[in-house]
Amino acid sequence: MKNTISKGLLFFIPKSVVDWSSKIFHYVYFQRNPTMQIVFGTLVLCGHAIVVIDIFPILYGIYHDDNHVLVPMLLLFLNLLAFYKLCNADPGEITQNNHALFISIYAFDGVLYKKKTVCKTCNFVKPARSKHCSICNRCVHRFDHHCVWTNNCIGALNNHYFIAFLLTLIMMCLNGFYMALRSIIAIAHFSGMVHAMIMESDGKMIPVSLSALVQHLFMQFPRIIFLMASLSVLSLLIAGFTLYHIYLMFTNQTNNERHKLGTFQISENCHQNDYDSSKVTKLPKKKQCINSRPYDIGILKNIAQVCFPRYYIDRHKKILNKFK
Ligand SMILES: [Zn+2]
Ligand SMILES: [Zn+2]
Repeated sequence: MKNTISKGLLFFIPKSVVDWSSKIFHYVYFQRNPTMQIVFGTLVLCGHAIVVIDIFPILYGIYHDDNHVLVPMLLLFLNLLAFYKLCNADPGEITQNNHALFISIYAFDGVLYKKKTVCKTCNFVKPARSKHCSICNRCVHRFDHHCVWTNNCIGALNNHYFIAFLLTLIMMCLNGFYMALRSIIAIAHFSGMVHAMIMESDGKMIPVSLSALVQHLFMQFPRIIFLMASLSVLSLLIAGFTLYHIYLMFTNQTNNERHKLGTFQISENCHQNDYDSSKVTKLPKKKQCINSRPYDIGILKNIAQVCFPRYYIDRHKKILNKFK
């Protein structure tokens, strides 16, 4: 099927174009590069340019006494700060020097993470909850995923920046949508467009319909309507993604672990107490009873582990030093 589609595409598109596209795709998504960081910066810049050039004059023209600048600029500052930290922070790279510390932090559950699994590139036993990122070529402690938008892995030490980035991003999108909607409603209301009448072909006057009003506003303020439409779709997508990552934080799971769990067929009528990691490998996949949240230590402790990773790691360092 895939080959048929590829062959069909090759019939219409020159091979050189397909080759170049696949090279660009591979470069953007499978090599470390700043392309998507630049794309993100450009999108944020364009969105705020519309707010400054089109929306601020309308809002200040109608609601003179309100402060329309403070909230969007504060959200922009916080979002860019979280983005900067996220891009540049160490996600929890495991090296020969800190390997002993990271291997002492999480126990091997025997299912998702088995003892003595060696990373052939880094040449050490992979600590539980770590994964080798093939794009960054390093093992990362409590690996979540590699994020192309930040050109960095998301791991134990920068997961809190990731959550802060997502939360400020969704607030920025929702606030942008609200400002665009408020300016459009204000224009339609105060210009009298809402109560306008139009003449039909037979000379009869009828009130303007909603679709005609939207069409007119789109012609008058294309950038604001475009921003509103884009932000409504983006807000839904980002809200879903943010909620998913907050759920992972609350349950002490990573995206990598959810992905690994997907490869198991968990037995029906399975209770957490039935779990026995020594049996898992001996049972056929259909009958496996898996503890899907082996690192869940209660919601508050789970949140603390993500929000204060250094504190959690330092505590283990002290324990480790005691036994030396
Ligand atoms: Zn590795
Ligand atoms: Zn990576």
